[in-house]
Amino acid sequence: MGDGAKSGFFAMKNKSSAVIPIAAVSHARPAVAVPAIAVPATGRLLDRLGRPMTDLRISVTDRCNFRCSYCMPKDVFDKDYQYLPHSALLSFEEMTRLARLFAAHGVRKIRLTGGEPLLRKNIEGLIEQLAEIRTPAGEPLALTLTTNGSLLERKAAALKAAGLTRVTVSLDGLDDAVFRQMNDVDFPVADVLAGIDAAQAAGLGPIKVNMVVKRGSNEQEILPMARYFREHHAGRVVLRFIEYMDVGATNGWRMDEVLPSAEVIARIAAEFPLLPLEAAAPGETAQRWAYADGGGEVGVISSVTQAFCHDCSRARLSTEGKLYLCLFASAGHDLRPLLRGSASDEEIASAIGHIWQGRADRYSELRALRGPEAGDSSDAHDKAPRRVEMSYIGG
Ligand code: SAM
Ligand code: SF4
Ligand code: SF4
Repeated sequence: MGDGAKSGFFAMKNKSSAVIPIAAVSHARPAVAVPAIAVPATGRLLDRLGRPMTDLRISVTDRCNFRCSYCMPKDVFDKDYQYLPHSALLSFEEMTRLARLFAAHGVRKIRLTGGEPLLRKNIEGLIEQLAEIRTPAGEPLALTLTTNGSLLERKAAALKAAGLTRVTVSLDGLDDAVFRQMNDVDFPVADVLAGIDAAQAAGLGPIKVNMVVKRGSNEQEILPMARYFREHHAGRVVLRFIEYMDVGATNGWRMDEVLPSAEVIARIAAEFPLLPLEAAAPGETAQRWAYADGGGEVGVISSVTQAFCHDCSRARLSTEGKLYLCLFASAGHDLRPLLRGSASDEEIASAIGHIWQGRADRYSELRALRGPEAGDSSDAHDKAPRRVEMSYIGG
């Protein structure tokens, strides 16, 4: 049984408000064992589908000050929701130790996420430690962070000084009323825009701004967002539209609320002609387009209509030290007992290597093969193991 199940600290409410311990249905997993045959870190680690591990996302907290309905709906993440206790969280030293071992296996980029990563106390201290890590070739890692932007104006300069390379800001609309409704805590859009300006001024660019598009909720914001970032930040902010995904088990996802990226691009191109761009790097999730008049670029992340599992190189580490091989996984591999036991770096690296070598996850491709309604609350979906929440595993 996994440690989450033992302590019983995961709990959520279902629609009829009975408390269901999430650990019992999804997180239970034996602690990872050190493999009998060592898997040494060689700087290149391939999974069963030949995909290298180059990207690590670390969730630094499962808490957030927003309640976006597609991620942490208010009726589930309410005052009774039980978050991870402090003792369960990896310390910054533990995260850094693991990050160093992932880098030895080939990770080049680390993204801090959550929950809302800027809520974790002294996150700058973690960034400072991660900035010391070098790849086998002696290069520093690219260190990025995804944030809802609410605390960015205050923190941008300190994040840059600590060694953060870039920042991605989530923003689901420009209209204040729409934005307040999307975050569901009445947070004003002006403060996030000020955070983006502060990040720009601090040198955390090029900034990416991500907008999740939910049909019928914020689709009318697509063009105002495109116009705003062309006018105010042309060439310095890359705006990306994300298809609403069936992550987790609480957002009540329905296919008819997904606005396909092709439609987003058609709407923008009707006002601003676009030219397709090549992917900047292998494994890049976004398809990129340049404004034909030189006004910068936009991107779309089409996780639902055009799955990109074939070159998914991302590993995910939860706040309590479980390694997840896919955003849609229902269980993680618990590295914390190794960290807090007597395992050596070589043994932990070997365990990580063994886990990645066994990876064959490709949820979104399989969803696409099942047909357009797959992933909704059909019988098949209800019978599948409960997937972890995005706020827990990190976006
Ligand atoms: N709180 C931070 C933020 O919002 O940027 C970081 C964590 S959040 C889970 C990371 C990203 O996941 C955000 O850009 C958010 O919009 C995205 N996200 C969350 N739920 C999603 C869903 N159901 N579909 C698509 N994107 C989602
Ligand atoms: Fe919080 Fe980010 Fe999830 Fe919104 S998407 S609820 S800001 S973790
Ligand atoms: Fe990667 Fe899983 Fe997303 Fe496919 S569904 S791209 S394997 S995280």
